Amino acid sequence: MSHASSGPSAISGVGLRKDYGDRSVLRGVNIAVPSGQIAVLFGANGAGKTTLLRTLAGLSRPDAGDVHIAGLRMRRSGGRARDLVGFVGHQTLLYNDLTCRENLVFYAKLYGVARPERRIESILARLNLADRADRRVRTLSHGMQKRLSVARAILHEPAVLLLDEPESGLDTDSVASLGELLQDWSSSGKTALLTTHSSEIGQAWADRVLTLNRGRLVEQTHAHRDGVGANDASNADPASG
Ligand code: ATP
Repeated sequence: MSHASSGPSAISGVGLRKDYGDRSVLRGVNIAVPSGQIAVLFGANGAGKTTLLRTLAGLSRPDAGDVHIAGLRMRRSGGRARDLVGFVGHQTLLYNDLTCRENLVFYAKLYGVARPERRIESILARLNLADRADRRVRTLSHGMQKRLSVARAILHEPAVLLLDEPESGLDTDSVASLGELLQDWSSSGKTALLTTHSSEIGQAWADRVLTLNRGRLVEQTHAHRDGVGANDASNADPASG
C-alpha cells in the first residue's frame, strides 16, 4: 500500500518565498514528495498552505526559489511542468453552463488527451457522476461540483495531483471514495499532495505528514499510512527525495 521507501521526487520546491506587501507568507520552504507517495499538509488558517500549493502548481510565481515537477523546472519548461500537475482548489475551474461531460471534453482537448471518450466515461463512473453526465454544472450540488473538479484534475493523468482541502463539501461516502482513488493513484506510482484540517484524513491517507507554520515547514513525518510515524526533518530536504 505504502511507497514510503522514497524514489526520486515527483515534486519539489527549494527555498520558496512568497511575500504579499510587507507580509512574508512563505519564508524559504523546502519540500519534496517522492513518486508514489501521498503527502498531507497541515497548518492553521492563514499558515500559507494554499499559497504553497498554488506555487507548486505553477499558478503563483514565488518571489524566490524553484519548483521542479518530475525533473522539469517550473520556470524554464514553457508550461510542460505545469501540464504534469492536476490541481483541485477552492474554485472548481468548471464552466457552469456546460454539462459535466462537456466540461471534461473541453479539458481533454486542452490537454490533448488521447481517446478522450473512454477516459471521460471511466472517470465519470469513478467519481460517481455517470448519471449526472448530461447535467449542467450550475444545477449540481457543491459536493458534486467538487467531485467533477477532481475528475477534471485527473483527466490528463498528471504525475502530481495537488488538492486544497478536497474533503470540504463532500459527504462521508464521497470522502471514502476519494481516499480509495488516492490510494490507487499512489499505487500506480503517481503522487499527491493535499491540505486538510482533518487529522483523520491525515492518518488514513498520508505516507508523509507535513506541517506549515507561519510560512515555514516545521515538521515532516513519515506516516506510512499504518499509523507508524517518525519525525525525520525540521525542514524537508528535497535532495534526499
Ligand atoms: P486556510 O487554512 O484558511 O485556507 P492557508 O494556510 O491556506 O489558510 P493562505 O490562503 O495561503 O493560507 O494565506 C496565507 C496568508 O497570505 C494569509 O494571511 C492571507 O491573508 C495571505 N494572502 C493569501 N493570498 C493573498 C493575496 N492574493 N494577497 C494578499 N494576501 C494574501
